[in-house]
Amino acid sequence: MRKGQIMKRKQKIPVIKGFLNLSEKNPTPIFWCPFCQIYHRHGWPEPTEHEKKFGSHRVAHCHSSSPFLSTGYCIKPFTGSELHDLSEGILKEWQKNMAKR
Ligand SMILES: [Zn+2]
Repeated sequence: MRKGQIMKRKQKIPVIKGFLNLSEKNPTPIFWCPFCQIYHRHGWPEPTEHEKKFGSHRVAHCHSSSPFLSTGYCIKPFTGSELHDLSEGILKEWQKNMAKR
């Protein structure tokens, strides 16, 4: 039992980038789960400095045989600059598609 607990602690916890909805009174992060093919939403108490840097661990909300069920995941919100890069990528893709017409 103890050995199992130690082994479990050594399991690598995946870090998931999520969107933090700041328009809500209590912001909640959501992310697209590639295993369940749905968005998962979690509670979001004020994160500690460690959680802001490395992500905040959550028990998986997965409904399938997702590998997240055994490890949970650390949710790390996209930064402003990452969101900017995402929007730039969407704009470039749109411009490329428009140029083909
Ligand atoms: Zn899932």
